[in-house]
Amino acid sequence: MWSVLKARAKQTAKPYPYPQRLPVLPQRFRGLPSLDASRCQEGCQACAEACPTDAIQVAPWQLDMGRCLFCGRCEEACPPHALTFTREFRLAARKREDLVVSPEKQFQLAQALDRELAALFGRSLRLRQVSAGGCNACEADANVLGTVTFDMARFGVQFVASPRHADGLLVTGPVTENMREALLATYEAVPQPKIVIASGACAISGGPFAGFPAVHNGVDKFLPVNLYVPGCPPHPWTLLDGILRLLGRLREQRENP
Ligand code: SF4
Repeated sequence: MWSVLKARAKQTAKPYPYPQRLPVLPQRFRGLPSLDASRCQEGCQACAEACPTDAIQVAPWQLDMGRCLFCGRCEEACPPHALTFTREFRLAARKREDLVVSPEKQFQLAQALDRELAALFGRSLRLRQVSAGGCNACEADANVLGTVTFDMARFGVQFVASPRHADGLLVTGPVTENMREALLATYEAVPQPKIVIASGACAISGGPFAGFPAVHNGVDKFLPVNLYVPGCPPHPWTLLDGILRLLGRLREQRENP
C-alpha cells in the first residue's frame, strides 16, 4: 500500500505536450492509407474484394476513409504490398469528399471554422455528446480526451450534460431510427450558432451498418456537419487534432504525408 501511495505521490499531472510534440503511435496503428500504384498488378481487385464496407474502388483507385474501418483486410489481401497504412493519425476533414483519398490527391487536413465562429468558439467550446446508436467504442475514445494524458480542457474544450449549455454536438453512431428523433431534438436544444462533429465511420457513413433499414447511414443525412473524424473508432489524438484544427488552433499541414 505504501509503495503505491509513494509512487502516486511522485507522479505529477502530465498531459502529453501536444501539439508541441507529436505522439508516436504503435506499429499496429493504422492511419492514413497510402497506395504505391506502380506495384499494382493489372486487373487486380483484391483490396476492393476484401473490404467489408465497399470503401475501395479500383480504376481509378480510391479509398473512402469515411467508410473505412481500418481493419487491415485490404492490406493483407494486397499481394505486392502496394497498399499500406501509415501511422499518420491526423485524418479529420471539413468536407465529406475530402475523406476520399487516392494516389493523385493529397489529403486535405481540416480547415478552421469561418472567422466569426472561430472567434466565438476558438478559446471555449462546450460539446454535448450524442450516441446515435453507437457501439460505445467511439464514445469511450471521446471520453478518453478528458483524462490527464490528453486533457482536452486545457484547450477550453469540454463535454457538458445539457445541450442548452452546449455550443455543438459530437455525434457517434450511424443514427438508428430509434435515435433519430432524440438526435434532432438535442440539436434543436443547442442555441445558435452551433456546430456538429461526426466522429467515427458509423456517424460519417453508417460504417458496417450502412444499408440496414434500421439505420440512416450517418449524421449528415439530417444535420450540417462541420467536422468529419474517420476511424473505427477514431484514435483520441485524431479527434483532438481535428477539433483543434476546426477551432483554428492548429493550421499547419503535415510535413510529409
Ligand atoms: S481497412 Fe478499410 S478499406 Fe481496407 S478492408 Fe478494412 S474497411 Fe476496407
